[in-house]
Amino acid sequence: MPEILDRAALRAYAEESRPEFEKHLKTLVEIPSVSMDPGHKKDVEKCAKAAAKLLEKMGAKAKVKKTDGHPVVLGHLKTGKKNKTVTVYNHLDVQPAGGPEWERKPFKMAVEGDRYYARGATDDKGPALTALLAARHAVESGVPINVRFIWELEEEIGSPSFEKFMRKEAAKIPTDSVVVSDTIWVSRTKPAVSAGLRGLQGAILRLETGTKDTHSGLTGGAARNPLAELAAVVAKCVDAKTGRVLIPGFYDDVVPPTRGELKWFRECGFSVPGFKKAHGLTKLRHQDALKVMKAIWAQPTFEVHGFAGGYQGPGVKTAVPPWGEAKVSMRLVPDQTPRKALQLLRKHVRSLNRDVRITDESALAPYRGVTTGPYAKAAADAIEFAYGKTPAVVREGGSIGAIVTMEKTLKCPITFIGLSLPEHGYHAPNEYYDWGQACGGMQAFAKYFELVSGI
Ligand SMILES: [Zn+2]
Repeated sequence: MPEILDRAALRAYAEESRPEFEKHLKTLVEIPSVSMDPGHKKDVEKCAKAAAKLLEKMGAKAKVKKTDGHPVVLGHLKTGKKNKTVTVYNHLDVQPAGGPEWERKPFKMAVEGDRYYARGATDDKGPALTALLAARHAVESGVPINVRFIWELEEEIGSPSFEKFMRKEAAKIPTDSVVVSDTIWVSRTKPAVSAGLRGLQGAILRLETGTKDTHSGLTGGAARNPLAELAAVVAKCVDAKTGRVLIPGFYDDVVPPTRGELKWFRECGFSVPGFKKAHGLTKLRHQDALKVMKAIWAQPTFEVHGFAGGYQGPGVKTAVPPWGEAKVSMRLVPDQTPRKALQLLRKHVRSLNRDVRITDESALAPYRGVTTGPYAKAAADAIEFAYGKTPAVVREGGSIGAIVTMEKTLKCPITFIGLSLPEHGYHAPNEYYDWGQACGGMQAFAKYFELVSGI
């Protein structure tokens, strides 16, 4: 197929789009679409409407579709029935933001040099907008491709309504492939495509031993302390020193990375100091780069996110608390399943302490992606075209529940073209996106659309 998108013209388009990109990014990030917070329900809806308007502005048909939870925005840039269709997935909901660590207002876009500071700038509104502007250019330049958009607004809460929605909707939005833009490079100088994602199973362990705080001088010794008992349970679920999960049977279904994957890991340019700096970590379990990569990408975890109960104010209040909670989660890798992990956890906790009650929280299956074939090659070639560098093939430690759902319902190959950098701060304070990633990203996506139009 002759080349349609010329390198110089594509670069010029990206550069010229900058004011437009900044204007629309500002509109999107200044709507606090925090899906987790019921107080922001209206803002999530407002964001969906603004996104649909933006799709229409770019020449796409757009709809805000209701689900059992927050809406999904669907878009379609059509070029003709005989042409291939690619679907771009992004999410427009964001994590909560605010507090003393934020140096700027989280929902007001601050442009500082090439950086765009705001909650959601890199996760995932900036990449969504980048792909949209690229699609418009590809279609207007005559690339024979139909581009669909699925913009979710519940990703940050584990996509609770997405599967039901897709089961109903998938037949109406047929596609030849999906490309997801919600992943992170190894470093600014090393692009990456993802070959897998970890899954997740959250849980709350709750223990009640009384009805009110009691004086530890009067009851201590006889009263059972729920926080101490929960700490003992947790200590038998995970070896805090090594991170090894101690739940019997937990590792049975873990598929270790292949030799090929380990080779990619070794060659991907991951640096331990860079990782520490990007995440503000001062102490790590491992110093060896490969060990760190395996731990964050290819191994499951048992994490404690919080202990609740008891006295949290200044000083020490000498009461025996009546209840306690441990908020935990397990990150899962292929071929573990959330259901089995939860069963194993329940069984293990019951054997340790019969009075602990477990409620399950969000569950996401892990995902193993394709690393070979025409779509994987198109993604790698598009990134190389735009950034002049071959992308590393890595895995993601995080989870995107929607991917497993799309694979099941749309039944097509899924690739990843992520544009975010570790220092952009996914879920962290002072999140930002930058023009370099947007400008290169527009070129990469436009090229990708051209390449997949011929598959
Ligand atoms: Zn995201």
